[in-house]
Amino acid sequence: MARYVGSVCKMCRREGEKLFLKADRCLSDKCSFNRRSYGPGQHGQGQARRKQSEYGLQLREKQKLRRIYGILEAQFARYFEIAERKKGITGENLLQILETRLDNVVYRLRMAGSRREARQLVRHGFFRVNDRKVNIPSYQVKPGDVVTLKENATNSALIKGILEANNGQNIPEWLELDTNSWTARVNSIPSREQIDIPVQEQLIVEFYSR
Ligand code: SF4
Repeated sequence: MARYVGSVCKMCRREGEKLFLKADRCLSDKCSFNRRSYGPGQHGQGQARRKQSEYGLQLREKQKLRRIYGILEAQFARYFEIAERKKGITGENLLQILETRLDNVVYRLRMAGSRREARQLVRHGFFRVNDRKVNIPSYQVKPGDVVTLKENATNSALIKGILEANNGQNIPEWLELDTNSWTARVNSIPSREQIDIPVQEQLIVEFYSR
């Protein structure tokens, strides 16, 4: 499966804000955005001064959302098509589709420090959904689904460290986590208010409607 292999921190610099793509590093002094908050490349320092066109604003908003969730262009466009076909508000539908990906759910349950890390853990088969092993990060969970950490997963120093650091705190209301068994239940599809992503989804709808 194709994936982005370039510098992750450059994405934050390109979008002009911290996207929190790298777990603990994002909160530390090592965050490169703290040191260089201008765009990457030769003309990066002039980026903030340039006035953006309407199209530019829409494009940047789309890129920002895509990068936050770590989705490649073609897959993101497919998600938009699905969101458009669904009943309701397209922008909100799109966010809900992204938010209910299994890798994002693992991240929201604080069983991974970043969505990238969550994706890797899912791929390595650390999670079960409704008692079946699922190693597809894009798997869509639905209300009533039960997500469980694989037995013996806590033998992994990486997993143990993450769980000890987070201990099931700050879990969104639409999810419920039992930290004794590391079993989570999806209570509902999150509403827009429950998705704390700083994005103006209407601009993305306008981008694809051009
Ligand atoms: Fe962005 Fe995190 Fe890199 Fe900082 S450390 S630039 S927040 S990905």
